[in-house]
Formats: sequence, C-alpha cells, structure tokens
Amino acid sequence: MWGTTVLVAVVLALLCAGIGSYISYQKGRSEAEGALFGFFLGPLGLLIAAMLPTIYAQPASYERFQENNADICPDCLSVVPKAAKKCRFCGSWIESVPAEESTQAQAEGVESEQDSHELPHGW
Ligand SMILES: [Zn+2]
Repeated sequence: MWGTTVLVAVVLALLCAGIGSYISYQKGRSEAEGALFGFFLGPLGLLIAAMLPTIYAQPASYERFQENNADICPDCLSVVPKAAKKCRFCGSWIESVPAEESTQAQAEGVESEQDSHELPHGW
C-alpha cells in the first residue's frame, strides 16, 4: 500500500510541477519557479504561482532592438536602423553625436518650447 501512496504523491507532485512551470512560463517568469511551487506545495503552490505578477517582456525587447543595430529617433521616438542618417518617419537627420552634445541640444529644445508656451501669456 505504501508504494502506491508514494507513487501517487510523486505523480501528483510532478503533475503540479508541470502545471506550475506552464503558469510561470505564461507569465514570463522562470519556469523553474512555478515547477518548484507546484512540486513542493501542490495545488497551493499553483495558486501562488498564478497569483505572482506577470513579467512583461518590454524592456527585454527594447534591449533586443538596440542589439539589432536599431535606434530610437530622438524627434519622433520611432525605431530606426542605427546606420540610418535620416529618420524615415519624421525626416529629421540622425547624427551620432556625443552624449554631452545631445543632452545640451535637448535642454535647448526644452527651453525654446517653454518660450513658445509663454508667448501667448504676454499677449
Ligand atoms: Zn523621427
């Protein structure tokens, strides 16, 4: 009788581990995480795995963009090839400027934007 009980327990644990890893996989989390929860805690572990927050893959895909020699257009924020000199979406020129210069240009852009906002108040 003991042998059967142990066998059933192991099969159930493995089953829960499988479901747990699937739940974690669907949530973008580590499959081992859900498998461990299911294996050791059974249905309770599956509940915990199901309640864990989903990890969205957006940051990873953004990194992949950069790895594939793609860049973000500073003007329209569209994804353009890194080798491109001109944005195909807004037509602005993309130059590989040093970080300091581009920050300065951004600061100036913000200033001029503020000025144009202030103009109507003066009128
Ligand atoms: Zn653009």
